[in-house]
Amino acid sequence: MKTKERFVFLECTECKNRYYTTHKRQRATYKLEKKKFCRFCRKHTSHKEHKL
Ligand SMILES: [Zn+2]
Repeated sequence: MKTKERFVFLECTECKNRYYTTHKRQRATYKLEKKKFCRFCRKHTSHKEHKL
């Protein structure tokens, strides 16, 4: 069964590194933003979605 999902990168808003990947539904129009631990900043920062 195929799911309509696409992969996106999560970019740290502080150091601009992209290493988290996630996926979301194709039709979703909202922008993902998640609080995640950034291993470069060594703290929790918000990560914004970035297309591949
Ligand atoms: Zn960072």
